[in-house]
Amino acid sequence: MNSTVQHPAQEYVVNQAQLSFCRSCQKLIVWQVSNRTGKRYPTDAKEQMNPPAPVRFVTSRTWFHDCVPAPSPQLPLLPPQPVILAVYSPSGPSKAAKMRAMKSFLDQASEPQLRLALTAIFNRQTRTEQAHDVTSEHNSIGFTGSDAEILSNIHKAATKYKGLRGKQVDLIRRKMKKYSRQLVAALEGKEWSI
Ligand SMILES: [Zn+2]
Repeated sequence: MNSTVQHPAQEYVVNQAQLSFCRSCQKLIVWQVSNRTGKRYPTDAKEQMNPPAPVRFVTSRTWFHDCVPAPSPQLPLLPPQPVILAVYSPSGPSKAAKMRAMKSFLDQASEPQLRLALTAIFNRQTRTEQAHDVTSEHNSIGFTGSDAEILSNIHKAATKYKGLRGKQVDLIRRKMKKYSRQLVAALEGKEWSI
């Protein structure tokens, strides 16, 4: 019986000329020649962290190349879904033009934009509540009495989970139109930006 213990082969510094790139996964590799079969096989090469010395690459005869090809750029597993940002562009300086622009902005607004609009009104709500110690009514700042509870709750959940979910998007889109005047004022007061 052969009882020799197989010690892992030591890592060694690679001469730059010995490095090559795997054609399949683009990782740095070093071609080795097997002592047993005489065939070539690749091993992984790693950058050795020894700043500020010049960069060195090391490998070992037992670091068999772990080839994980990058997914083809033509065939992504999931098609990317770009967030198309809506634009707010009033046709003139009048209040009416700004309100119209805000409403059409809300019609097109993406989920992150709707969330920011909701946050802008929520922030006003909070300030007023702090000042009055109760949910303020009839002061036209922040949520109206009937919306306060549901919109505050949606805002808190959207902040926690970093997004509005499903039907909340449609609800906020619809509700925010009611707050167009405040949204324009908040935008001009730099309380939020589009
Ligand atoms: Zn590879």
